[in-house]
Amino acid sequence: DDPVARPSRTRTVVVANQKGGVGKTTTTVNLAVALAQLGQRVLVIDLDPQGNASTALAVEHGRGTPGTYEVLVDGTPLRDVTQPVEEVPNLWLVPATIDLAGAEIELVSVVARESRLRKALDAARLIGEEDTRYDYVLVDCPPSLGLLTLNALVAGAEILIPIQAEYYALEGLGQLLETVEMVRAHLNDKLSLGAFLITMYDSRTKLASGVAREVREHFGPRVLRTMIPRSVRVSEAPSYGQSVLGYDPTSTGALAYLAAARELAVIGQRPPAPQDGGGRG
Ligand code: ADP
Ligand code: MG
Repeated sequence: DDPVARPSRTRTVVVANQKGGVGKTTTTVNLAVALAQLGQRVLVIDLDPQGNASTALAVEHGRGTPGTYEVLVDGTPLRDVTQPVEEVPNLWLVPATIDLAGAEIELVSVVARESRLRKALDAARLIGEEDTRYDYVLVDCPPSLGLLTLNALVAGAEILIPIQAEYYALEGLGQLLETVEMVRAHLNDKLSLGAFLITMYDSRTKLASGVAREVREHFGPRVLRTMIPRSVRVSEAPSYGQSVLGYDPTSTGALAYLAAARELAVIGQRPPAPQDGGGRG
């Protein structure tokens, strides 16, 4: 595939939605592999104690493996816990172990508990040379708006919100957008509502196209034109420790994630929109 231009600075993209099962992890993993295939240097940070992104990319994350927990709670430098993803050049991952489940509570008593990830990323950025720096850092969030997701929002510059093309798709989004506003007002004024991605789209159903229309009415051009189709290949890939791009490169899911990655790369070349509140486009 034709490579895309590298961004002038590292783009930190937080994949968040407090609803479970909407495609956060699938999107993180497949976009990461797609961006890496497009010539970008990509780091995935697994911020979900379930460790699904670590599993999907076949990175060791058994108890005792140093990962996100050590970064957040002990202040371990990112580079000490970063592992290369085998068979995918340009891709690295910071794994999540089940220990991370305790971090939400342990962090409560830690200094600057909501900016631990930002601190780690800032420190890593300082040592990043032009040709060794990451172009993209993708953060896979857990399905909640607790301290872990908060750390991601404080560390990140853009949010990517996967929306499952199903009934109730927009429910709960208000709460997420309020959290984003709160973070922007008090903790991280660089945070922007980056993009929405419609996932598990089933073109045969009226419901899915209705939901897609509604999402576009609400969020306008922020919604990526590419929609990720519902596809068995996408859901099978993780059990082989692969992205769908590795598992079945010509499948509709693989092509959709490649197209979404290209769109994301192009969005980064645009100046940020003046009005960031969502609203009707
Ligand atoms: P989240 O991280 O938001 O909880 P996941 O990415 O784990 O969501 O996806 C939830 C479930 O849906 C998983 O079993 C995943 O394999 C499946 N899934 C995600 N995207 C697709 C898709 N495009 N087609 C079919 N199944 C999908
Ligand atoms: Mg997940």
